[in-house]
Amino acid sequence: MIQLCLLGSTGSIGQQTLQVVKEHPDKIQIKVLTAQKNAKLLIEQAIQFLPEYVVIVDENFYLEVKDALKDYPIEVLTGKPALNEVVTLPEITHVLTALVGFAGLEPTISAINHQKKIALANKETLVVAGELINYLLQKNQVELIPVDSEHSAIYQCLIGEKPNEIHKIYLTASGGPFRTFQYEQLLNITPAQALQHPNWSMGNKITIDSATLMNKGLEVIEAKWLFHLNNEQIEVVVHPQSIIHSMVEFVDGSIKAQLGLPNMKIPIQFALSFPERWVNNSYKKWDFVSHSQLTFEKPNLKLFPCLELAYYCLNKGGNSSCVLNAANEIAVEKFLNHQISFLDIPKTIEKVIKTVEFISYPTLNDLFETDKIARKFALEYA
Ligand code: NAD
Ligand code: MG
Repeated sequence: MIQLCLLGSTGSIGQQTLQVVKEHPDKIQIKVLTAQKNAKLLIEQAIQFLPEYVVIVDENFYLEVKDALKDYPIEVLTGKPALNEVVTLPEITHVLTALVGFAGLEPTISAINHQKKIALANKETLVVAGELINYLLQKNQVELIPVDSEHSAIYQCLIGEKPNEIHKIYLTASGGPFRTFQYEQLLNITPAQALQHPNWSMGNKITIDSATLMNKGLEVIEAKWLFHLNNEQIEVVVHPQSIIHSMVEFVDGSIKAQLGLPNMKIPIQFALSFPERWVNNSYKKWDFVSHSQLTFEKPNLKLFPCLELAYYCLNKGGNSSCVLNAANEIAVEKFLNHQISFLDIPKTIEKVIKTVEFISYPTLNDLFETDKIARKFALEYA
């Protein structure tokens, strides 16, 4: 029986994870649920799944949650450090990281240091500190399974294969809502337009990242650390139908792909069930004949420079991906608050990358410092 700590249970991945849990009550038990400030949904989830602990990170909502759960055998905690604590509870076997952004890093490290199996949705953790995370995984003999659909696809294609027989991987990208736009059409994009993703329904931050192609940039970096690849081995191909979730080409020229309708519950379930596959007939299956066209094209780096910025940071190494991530988090937030335009997102990130001091071999403290400084610069730029 999996005893699950679900970080970020009120988000898009968090809610879909709870649906997977409902479909497998004999296999997964919820021990911990956490949220930033969505007290109402967290309370509902807690009453339904009866975890031992809930964490409402934002202290302003603590009393509301505490009061609503006073008649249940559930301990309510608050504050950021509580996340690092709850992942360490002895009975927990798995931690699924469905919180968004840099906030995922510390609790993930804490969970690895306590030998919990990690189902990783929070890609920012690997973007910011991939090298350090790999070191900790090895040191603690901990397994980390990706939830991100592209990485789950590659993980599945690599089962039974030898790492030195990978020639390259193809990360597929939907291209986002503005794939076919001209430059002039991007000038006046509103947050509402950018929040309309053609194939996936996700949290706001990743939806904007998908529209700028930064999401694919973050995924390139995530893939490097997950699969121990050289930078040249990772190629992005735009595939607007999002049916092929990613592919691996081997040294003999053979290519394996993983396919299915876009549905995050499949990679979520796989990350929890691996090395098994659990029967699940609740989702619509893909039908080859009714989707007879799968198309592919090159990403347009001129229109979507975020992907190029991510490759630049990947090649530079050190603390640069940490800078990229922090600047992007702030730029996206400013765009969503109507403070900067869509095209200002890559401009802000580029300026921050040029400004923050480069550190070749950052320690964890250096990464925290880098994150703080990069956010500060990104906030200051108009
Ligand atoms: P979301 O915004 O819908 O949910 C985020 C969750 O994290 C919420 O429960 C929120 O309360 C919590 N949270 C937010 N900020 C926090 C903070 N500072 N401290 C603690 N908790 C915080 O996001 P999402 O779309 O579910 O994405 C979660 C992660 O999964 C992201 O890293 C994203 O890139 C990744 N991911 C998401 C999808 C998807 O389909 N949504 C697909 C692949 C990967
Ligand atoms: Mg993805």
